[in-house]
Amino acid sequence: MVEFKQSEILKSLPKQFFASLVAKVARISEEGNDVINLGQGNPDQPTPSHIVKSLQAAAEEPRNHKYSPFKGLPELKEAAASYYKREYGVELDPKTEVAILFGGKAGLVELPQCLLNPGDTVLVPDPGYPDYWSGVGLAQANMEMLPLTEENNYLPDYSKLSQQTLDMSKMMFLNYPNNPTGAVATQEFFTKTVEIATEHNICVVHDFAYGAIGFEGEKPISFLSAKGSKEVGIEIYTLSKTYNMAGWRIGFAVGNRSVIEAIELLQDHLYVSLFPAVQEAAVTALMDSQSCVEELVDMYESRRNVFIHGLQSIGWDVTSPAGSFFAWLKVPKGYTSAEFSDLLLEKAHVAVAPGHGFGQYGEGYVRAGLLSSEERLREAVNRISKLELFKS
Ligand code: PLP
Repeated sequence: MVEFKQSEILKSLPKQFFASLVAKVARISEEGNDVINLGQGNPDQPTPSHIVKSLQAAAEEPRNHKYSPFKGLPELKEAAASYYKREYGVELDPKTEVAILFGGKAGLVELPQCLLNPGDTVLVPDPGYPDYWSGVGLAQANMEMLPLTEENNYLPDYSKLSQQTLDMSKMMFLNYPNNPTGAVATQEFFTKTVEIATEHNICVVHDFAYGAIGFEGEKPISFLSAKGSKEVGIEIYTLSKTYNMAGWRIGFAVGNRSVIEAIELLQDHLYVSLFPAVQEAAVTALMDSQSCVEELVDMYESRRNVFIHGLQSIGWDVTSPAGSFFAWLKVPKGYTSAEFSDLLLEKAHVAVAPGHGFGQYGEGYVRAGLLSSEERLREAVNRISKLELFKS
C-alpha cells in the first residue's frame, strides 16, 4: 500500500485535544469502573417524538428522495425567519438573510474560508469552543485571543485590545451562552460589540448554540437583537441543543446578506443540501409547540441546582452558570486543570474536561456537563466529597 502523505494544511490543524480525554475515560471504564462522564457536551435526552414522527413521514415522501434545492428548502428558511421574529423580535428576509447549515459546527468552520485570506487576523475567545481554531487553520488565518476572565464576567474587554489588533482583525467569534464558562451576554455588551465591529470593519460571528438555555427565567439575548448588528455580523443557530438533535446535523446562519451569500456559495461547491426530510422535521421543531424546550431548560436548571449546591455543600467554592449546560469550576489551589481532572477521573471515576483544552485562559478550571441525571450528579458530588479535598 502506498502511504499517501497528508496535505500541509491538514497536518497543520490543531490536535483534537479532547480525544485524549475520551481515551482515558474508555481505559478507566474498560478496567471495570463505573465512570460518571461529565466531560462531554452531548445532549443525553432523545429528540422530542413529534419531531421524530415528522422525519418519519417526510422520509416516506418521494419528493424528498431527489436532490433538493442546493440552498435548502425555502420552507425551512421561512421557518427560521419566523422563529427569530417570534423568539427574539428580529426581522429576517428568508431569501437573503438565512443559510441552511449541516449543524452549527459546519458553518463555524466554513466561515473563515468564506471571508478570509491566508495571514488575515481573527479574534477568538479564550477559553472557547475549539472548533473555531479548525476553521481558522483551514483558512490559514491567524488567531488573536480574546481573554474571557471571571473579573469581566467572561465577556471580552475590548479596551485591552490595541488599535493595531482591532484594525488588523477581519472576523471575531463570540459565543453566549458560553461554552465552556456558562456565562451569558448583556445587551450593553452586544451594543459595544456592534460599535467596535463597525469602527474596525470586523465581521462578528455570534455562535448561539445555547440560545435556548438560560436559567432563572432569563432568556439568552440574540446578537441580532442589537441595533446595527446585521450590518456587521451573523448569528449561527443550531437545533442540536434546543431540540436534542445533535445527531441530525442541522442548523442555520442568519444576518448579514453578504456573509450569507458567501456561505451559500461555498456550500454550493461543497455539497448538495441536507436530506430534505431532515429539513422538514426541522420546520416542525421550529414551528410547533415549544413546550419541549421549556421542559428541557427546567431539567437542566434542576440538574444545575443539584450539582452546584451539592459541590458548595462539600466546601468547593463554585458559582452557578447562567446559561448553557456547562458548569465552569475553579480547581482548588495546588492543582493544574490537567492534574485535577486526572485526580477526579482516577480516584472518583468522575470525568470532567480540563479547562486548558479550551485555551490558555481556561487553565485553573474544569468544565462539567449537566448531561447526566440528578441522581448521577448527586453521586458525582458524593464521590468527590470522599476525596476530602475541600474544607466544608
Ligand atoms: N458551538 C458551540 C459553542 C458548541 O458547544 C457546539 C457543540 O457542542 C457547537 C457550536 C456545534 O453544534 P452543532 O454542530 O451540533 O450544531
